[in-house]
Amino acid sequence: MSVSLFKDVVKPIATGFGITLKRLSHKKETVFYPEQRREQYPRTRWRHFLTRYESGLERCIGCSLCAGACPARCINVVAAENTDEKRFSPGERYAERYEINMIRCIFCGYCQDACPTGAVVLRKNFELADYKRESFIYTKEMLLESFPGEADAPWVGEYEEVK
Ligand code: SF4
Ligand code: SF4
Repeated sequence: MSVSLFKDVVKPIATGFGITLKRLSHKKETVFYPEQRREQYPRTRWRHFLTRYESGLERCIGCSLCAGACPARCINVVAAENTDEKRFSPGERYAERYEINMIRCIFCGYCQDACPTGAVVLRKNFELADYKRESFIYTKEMLLESFPGEADAPWVGEYEEVK
C-alpha cells in the first residue's frame, strides 16, 4: 500500500495544528487553583455544620432524624437530657455525641432536609482532603459552629474573581 505524503502525513498534521490554533482564541475554562477559585453555586452542598441559635444554644435536639434519613448510614447521634444546670439546646434533649463519617458521606443533603430545627446544614467548603482515615470522623466539636450564623457566612477563603 502506498503512502501519500500530503494526504497521509501533511494534511492530518495541518488539520491538528489548525484545531489547536482555533482553540487558542477560546475563553480559558481552567483556573490556577488554589490561588484562584471559582465562585460556587448558591446551593452547593459540601461540608456539614451544626448551627446555633442567636442565643448561642445548639439547634440540634438529638432526635436522630438526620441519621434515619441518611442513605449511607454515616451519622451517629447519642442524645442526652438537658437540665436547668446544664442546658445545651432549648428542647428537652441535646446531642451529647454527634459524628459524621465523611468517608461514607455521599453529600446528598438528606440529613439537612430531614432536620426539624435546621441544625445540620451543608455549606460550600469543599476542601476536605486529609491524610488520616481518623480525620474523616467529624465530631460534634468539629461540626459545631463557634458563633451563631457562622455557617451561613460566605465560605472562608479569599476568592479571586475568575475573569
Ligand atoms: S449528606 Fe447524605 S450521606 Fe452525607 S451525612 Fe447527610 S444524609 Fe448522610
Ligand atoms: S441534626 Fe437535626 S435531625 Fe439530626 S439529631 Fe440534630 S436536630 Fe435531629
